[in-house]
Amino acid sequence: WKQAPASLALLTMFSRSHGAREFLIHEDERITYDAHFRGVAHLAHKLVGMGIGRGDRVALAMRNLPEWTQVFFAVTAIGAVAVPLNAWWTGGELEYGVNDSGAKLLIVDGERHLRLASHYPAMPAVERVLVTRAKAPLEGKAEPFEALVGVPTDWATLGELALPEIAMTIQPDDDVAIFYTSGTTGHPKGAIGTHRNMLSNIFTAGYATARMMLRRGEMPPPAPEPKTSLIVIPFFHVTACSAFLMGNVAAGGTIVLMRKWDTIEAYKLIERERIHATGGVPTIAWQLLEHPDRAHYDLSSLETISYGGAPSAPELVRRIYEEFGALPGNGWGMTETMATVTSHQGEDYLNRPDSCGPPVPVAELKIMAPDGETELGVGEVGELWARGPMIVKGYWEKPEATAETFIDGWVRTGDLAKLDDEGFCYIVDRAKDIIIRGGENIYSIEVENVLYAHPAVTDAALVGVPHRILGEEPAAVVHLCPGCEASEAELQAWVGKHLAGFKVPVAVKFVDSVLPRNANGKILKKELRAMFEGVEA
Ligand code: ATP
Ligand code: MG
Repeated sequence: WKQAPASLALLTMFSRSHGAREFLIHEDERITYDAHFRGVAHLAHKLVGMGIGRGDRVALAMRNLPEWTQVFFAVTAIGAVAVPLNAWWTGGELEYGVNDSGAKLLIVDGERHLRLASHYPAMPAVERVLVTRAKAPLEGKAEPFEALVGVPTDWATLGELALPEIAMTIQPDDDVAIFYTSGTTGHPKGAIGTHRNMLSNIFTAGYATARMMLRRGEMPPPAPEPKTSLIVIPFFHVTACSAFLMGNVAAGGTIVLMRKWDTIEAYKLIERERIHATGGVPTIAWQLLEHPDRAHYDLSSLETISYGGAPSAPELVRRIYEEFGALPGNGWGMTETMATVTSHQGEDYLNRPDSCGPPVPVAELKIMAPDGETELGVGEVGELWARGPMIVKGYWEKPEATAETFIDGWVRTGDLAKLDDEGFCYIVDRAKDIIIRGGENIYSIEVENVLYAHPAVTDAALVGVPHRILGEEPAAVVHLCPGCEASEAELQAWVGKHLAGFKVPVAVKFVDSVLPRNANGKILKKELRAMFEGVEA
């Protein structure tokens, strides 16, 4: 090789040094770093033996199982490209992801297998399908994954094995993974990232804490115990994989997984495992706060609750501080940035509860006018552009979309934002969600935050409804807390008290449950807009 190896394979090797520490806890499976490394190394050799090589795509579709991380580390350690598919997708959507990425190997869990079996004939590039935790006998293309290296509790008994030779040849700019965007504004796009993109994220994990301590004039503890995190958001999104999973592996942290999100289950795990950190998306933080049975559990081990991926109400920050005695954290990123670009924690966040923090040290931000050429100044709202070693090279096999979005190392984010004089970033809306009422811009997040601040409201979204003359008018969908009451007129008056008249929703619809969201905690505004069809004022 021409250059010293510098890839995720190094992190995989390094993880071995955490030895007997627990890495993954999943139901009654407890897996040490040593056992996990053995599972990864053995699987990596099997993959090489199956003819998987450099640049080959291996798709995985499973919920947060120990096998997910084993497959991810094994695939990337041999220079192949992991394609983590959204486990929430339907059979048809998964088929799209497999075919779009051209994967030749597909590894799924029993549930995904049931959903996908009828689609295997429509996946011509796929040579083999490996099914972990199969629920029924397998036939045809599908074979049991366990036949390769056993079940997770067997990994500890596997012999010592180094990573395959090919791990030495991977270069920082080689492809590591294709993650699909959430598809909030259109069809999901595969963002193709490199080893450098993913590794650069590891160094941003502890940054917000360090800055907070510096501001406080505090010293970090001399020999900190690695932390235990409850990871409840799916690994197939970059936040969980790049920021949480890789961050924990680098620090020797313990990850507790959950089969399915359930607030009481989460409380029990926090109490039993003495969890230090959790969160992921704002909705999770809300649910942890608001469950009526919270007081029955000992949640005092919680040190941080951090989230990103979707807008969050300023209200949340104060409540996490006061009611959990934990540090709230917020970070902004997108699939195209392989995870975190801005982040802050503790007082920084408490003092600016509507900000997602300043850029991490290796990133830069700028705010651009719609012409894409004029840079705007402090406090001016425009499109957020970001640059740094975490920005992916582009969209998988979409040259036009790549050329439009990735410009001279910058990514155009499609988010509208402003920066303050200290460089803190404030997301005000997604460009596609902004409501323009007779030429006046209405940023939905601003109005949503006012609605959230009303004592009876627990969930709220603002959407545009068509208006013949004005173009669009704002309308709200809200969910009230159990036993709470508020009328349409009362909520309109509440918004009118805090914001200019043109921002007051012309209609408010009440729904019985929290608003529909995707796996990443984003409200599905497309579905909400449909509720107002025919409401033209
Ligand atoms: P698609 O691009 O396919 O429409 P998506 O943009 O929702 O889907 P992701 O890459 O998962 O897919 O999400 C990135 C977006 O999430 C950002 O562009 C931004 O709108 C939103 N976001 C992320 N972090 C934050 C945050 N801390 N505060 C507010 N919004 C955030
Ligand atoms: Mg996007």
